[in-house]
Amino acid sequence: MLALLLLFLRGHLPCVTARVGASPTHVITVPSTRSRAGVHPLAELVGDRLGLPWIASAVNPDYGPDDHDFHADWFTPFIRTSRTPIHALILEDTWTTGARAQSLAHALKTAGATTVAAIILGRHVDPSYTPAKRLLTAIADPVFDIGRCAVED
Ligand SMILES: [Zn+2]
Repeated sequence: MLALLLLFLRGHLPCVTARVGASPTHVITVPSTRSRAGVHPLAELVGDRLGLPWIASAVNPDYGPDDHDFHADWFTPFIRTSRTPIHALILEDTWTTGARAQSLAHALKTAGATTVAAIILGRHVDPSYTPAKRLLTAIADPVFDIGRCAVED
């Protein structure tokens, strides 16, 4: 997973930066919504390889790990007031509905981040979910290509 992330960043961080309009200044993972203490496994995996400070975040315990809805108050990222703009990069290991990443992006903006970008390393697809059939058809052939840009129009 680390190799995948680093290869993606080497090839496509400039694409993400161009789309956002700024290079990331901080990085954050979507906090675990399970009662797991300590550093998020993805943050531990990445460590200081990106050379960016990590943003910590509190989690609202009112929402459980099986919640798949957007909640503006799900996360409270700790961002210090700064004279320089904060450009947050969210790293997430799995995209299911996007509710957690979108809730965190909203919270980051509310907390003062100027821009927020998200890089998702994996996606969970329920094959019995009818709208997912188009995606599954599109990936029926092994088309994974690290050179293919995720920032496509
Ligand atoms: Zn690209």
